[in-house]
Amino acid sequence: MSRRYLVTGGAGFIGSAVVRHLIAQTPHRVLVVDKLTYAGNLDNLAPVDGDPRFSFLQADIGDAEAMRRAFAAFRPDVVMNLAAESHVDRSIDGPAAFIETNIGGTFVLLQESLRHWRALPEAERAGFRFHHVSTDEVFGSLGAQGLFTESSPYQPTSPYSASKAASDHLVRAWHHTYGLPVLLSNCSNNYGPYHFPEKLIPLMILNALEGAPLPVYGDGANVRDWLHVEDHARALALIAERGRPGESYNVGGRAERSNLEVVTAICALMDELAPDPAIGPRTDLIRFVADRPGHDRRYAIDASHIERELGWRPQESFESGLRQTVAWYLAHRDWWQRIRSGVYRGERLGAG
Ligand code: NAD
Repeated sequence: MSRRYLVTGGAGFIGSAVVRHLIAQTPHRVLVVDKLTYAGNLDNLAPVDGDPRFSFLQADIGDAEAMRRAFAAFRPDVVMNLAAESHVDRSIDGPAAFIETNIGGTFVLLQESLRHWRALPEAERAGFRFHHVSTDEVFGSLGAQGLFTESSPYQPTSPYSASKAASDHLVRAWHHTYGLPVLLSNCSNNYGPYHFPEKLIPLMILNALEGAPLPVYGDGANVRDWLHVEDHARALALIAERGRPGESYNVGGRAERSNLEVVTAICALMDELAPDPAIGPRTDLIRFVADRPGHDRRYAIDASHIERELGWRPQESFESGLRQTVAWYLAHRDWWQRIRSGVYRGERLGAG
């Protein structure tokens, strides 16, 4: 059955993967609501542009009037909230936008969803869902052992993770207080195609291609649990469709790697797929630089709840996904050259 999905932040990295998945793999209609900040890019939606089930609205989720008009015109069955300021380093340099969008914007969207949901006919009200997409960073940092579960305490440490934690609390409160049928998911680090080149993996691929230094924060031993963005998109579509209202779902790839392991793996793939005698072995480009202030040591996800309840499993291993990602960046120079020639040139952010 075709349903109507309002996807905020759909021009970003994960949001656009969700939209491409929904249009290609489901009969649903999709309205993307995106402010098009530096991170929003309509090129990410080129594969679905022109599809009669896809439409786009440039708007700020914090603009209540614009949201009210969008809800009235589109009448969504499902709201998936991925609009956010998402980069930890930027949150250190300028936290205000994180508070405005991640907290204030989520609040406005909850209020407009509640207004819309209350006015729906009974049958439609039962099927409505507000799915808030969040991060494992809300749980803080792990030691050498243990995994984040859905009941791990919230201990955010950066302006970014604190703003996401606040938004998660608002979403749960709108469920408990007003009965809004919400779903929440907390995912580990994503990587894959269309990833803005300020983030670790695409930055390292492009610097390695150009023979530029590969800056590794601190000692490179910080561990992240990596998930391919298309596996995350499949998980989000499944949660929106079959998740239980009020539940939260941790999503992760069981692929813990230290930053240094990730960078070394990229070097090996680049030496194989884009050899350049003038540059030599890419590992020679690795440089250890001053650590990020308050850099969380380790994140790792226990994904058994979504695996058990919804039957989700990642399809990519870290090795297969990273190879596909490196190949994608090598084949899509136009996409990243347009970004690199514009707003962002690969400079260090968030040094404190
Ligand atoms: P992104 O920065 O690539 O995209 C964010 C999108 O939101 C952009 O298109 C931007 O234009 C839009 N946006 C920003 N402020 C807006 C506003 N006020 N109104 C409307 N649109 C606005 O981020 P991403 O990596 O795709 O992350 C999407 C969501 O997933 C975020 O909520 C993030 O916290 C969460 N998340 C990300 C990761 C990750 O590894 N990237 C992991 C777990 C969870």
